[in-house]
Amino acid sequence: MKLKDSIRYLKGIGEKRAELFHKLGVFTIHDLLLHLPRTYEDRTRICTVENLEEGDSVCVQVSLAGGIRNFRARNGAQVIQASVTDGTGVLKVMWFHAAYIKKTLQSAEEFVLFGKVNFRGFLPEMINPVLEVSDKAGNRTGKILPVYPCTAGLSQRDIRNAVQNALTLLSEPIPDAVPLCLQKKYHLMSEEEAIRQIHAPESLEHFCDARRRLAFEEFLILQTGIVAAKSQRKMGSAPCFENVKCIADFAKGLPFALTNAQKRVINEISADLRREIPMNRLVQGDVGSGKTVVAAAVMFAAVRSGFQAAMMAPTEILAKQHYENLKKLFAPWNITVAFLSGGQKQVERSENLQMIADGTAGVVVGTHALITDTVAFYRLGLAVTDEQHRFGVRQRTALSGKSDKIHTLVMTATPIPRTLSLILYGDLDISIIDELPAGRKKIETYAVGESKRSRVEQFVLNQMNSGRQAYFICPLVEESEVIEANAVDEYLKYMRSGAFRGRKIEALHGRMKTAEKEDVMNRFAKGEIEALVATTVIEVGVDVPNASVMVIENAERFGLSQLHQLRGRVGRGTWQSYCILFCSSGGSVARERMKIMCETEDGFKIAEKDLELRGPGEFLGTRQHGLPQMHAGDLMTDMQLLKEAQKAAEEVLERDPELKTPEMEELHRRVDENFEKAGRILN
Ligand code: ADP
Ligand code: MG
Repeated sequence: MKLKDSIRYLKGIGEKRAELFHKLGVFTIHDLLLHLPRTYEDRTRICTVENLEEGDSVCVQVSLAGGIRNFRARNGAQVIQASVTDGTGVLKVMWFHAAYIKKTLQSAEEFVLFGKVNFRGFLPEMINPVLEVSDKAGNRTGKILPVYPCTAGLSQRDIRNAVQNALTLLSEPIPDAVPLCLQKKYHLMSEEEAIRQIHAPESLEHFCDARRRLAFEEFLILQTGIVAAKSQRKMGSAPCFENVKCIADFAKGLPFALTNAQKRVINEISADLRREIPMNRLVQGDVGSGKTVVAAAVMFAAVRSGFQAAMMAPTEILAKQHYENLKKLFAPWNITVAFLSGGQKQVERSENLQMIADGTAGVVVGTHALITDTVAFYRLGLAVTDEQHRFGVRQRTALSGKSDKIHTLVMTATPIPRTLSLILYGDLDISIIDELPAGRKKIETYAVGESKRSRVEQFVLNQMNSGRQAYFICPLVEESEVIEANAVDEYLKYMRSGAFRGRKIEALHGRMKTAEKEDVMNRFAKGEIEALVATTVIEVGVDVPNASVMVIENAERFGLSQLHQLRGRVGRGTWQSYCILFCSSGGSVARERMKIMCETEDGFKIAEKDLELRGPGEFLGTRQHGLPQMHAGDLMTDMQLLKEAQKAAEEVLERDPELKTPEMEELHRRVDENFEKAGRILN
């Protein structure tokens, strides 16, 4: 069997099952072998019943301790129930819809069970454990078994069998993405060896070596792509914006003086825009550091140089706000701003599309709708993404893909520790706005417990009575907009029936229609609503200077960087502002995290602490950051490995910039595959 062969050639994979594999991105034998386990079940460790602990997934070696019960549950399910023992204690086991188990149980003196332990009172219990007679050959217990990313209809067993068959029947060597010279230099096993080990590890040690090798490979592929993209971009050609000097006029027309940091960053961007090399720059600036006006200034230069500029925002609310802002900023200069959003009416959309196509609109603002294929620009020269970490790498590329040769600017508010930004934004140049406009007051932040609730409510009422407005951020629930919406409604009900009876309070959440959201935001901005009960939809960008208090429920459940973002919604005007964090859990880590929030407003410091205290997994919610999905590698624990891979990528490209030599063939193929959606990197 060859790597290129379809998985249909494998025994047990018919048309239907093949389709399920396709859902997992597995088409060929090679794809199958690169479909790596998500985790493992360690069935090598035999535990005694007396030492079982809640939640463990372990093996026990036991015999029957009594009769086998066979009955139907209330829902009609066939249940087999038995008590088993190994002499140290008794374990209750149950199987559903598995009548055949009874025979196996009766057929042997002793068997091995593998399953997850639950406690019912003091009694341990396993439901649907794997059952094997102790001395049977080819046991599934006594091994480290891979657990694969799966899809409905496909069982772990189906995948395991397919992988094992493929490994047995494969009649050609597996090509190596890591060239031999790098394997030697970085002490890595071959791909062939690593793949065999990762699917069926002989021991923990073998597994670790195999994983390290595959992680290195993944990083190498990623980094090679990034390094190549960067150097290729430098060779591309973008419009040269002749007129960047006009930015000075634009700045003079602003109601405030730019901060030194804003000026510096505008200069850095302008230097890029004057060259024919396509810009690809990231602007990092804390909440409130004034990124919008920086973007506006360079968009102005684009328009004055005869090009269109587009700005993409992660939410409708924010897009709308940017639109209003930019319209105001550009009105004195007779620059027309078009707006596109998913929620707008067809007529409105057509009008805007027309203005974009015929060049009437110099500036275009929108949400994701902006990047759909139907949008044709007259002469796009600059694309700005206000990212705030809601966008992935891919969407970013989609917008710049509009016209292959444009300048790209990405703005982000969450400061990322340097090492991570290298991975996330390795192909970008970075500018940092490290200064807030003068005169900003510190937001007084307090972490409080339930006992202070009525005092907090009174405090917020006092603020409202003196004309200020407030935000209440609901407890963070699961990532489901439906549940979140319910939580908001509940909370609103509580507020309206309690201390805030008769006050003008409205809800704002992701399930509301665009028009409703806009209506609520508008009325809040005009001061017609005194307080908003909201979810994190307001996290990004909402700008209402009169809002001076934010109350955050269950603050301990949020990431610190997210709290920091939320808090940035207040303190935007001249009023002294407050942030009150309700915390129900008193754990020491939670306390420490809240303390940081109360003590500092420096986004970088907060991000670093967050990383330190919560660990990488939570900090780097991969989805949120649009990080490339890693299979073998874990970005934090493998930081050292990543650095090595980065160095290796540079070495490789230096020696063979186009990866043309036979040794680089597989690496070349994999880099291209990885960047497929973003367009080919190498030719
Ligand atoms: P962010 O970086 O969080 O996107 P914004 O661009 O929304 O920040 O700016 C926050 C507020 O600060 C806005 O109301 C904006 O008009 C104002 N602002 C921006 N730059 C300055 C400045 N140099 N001086 C005073 N106010 C400024
Ligand atoms: Mg902003």
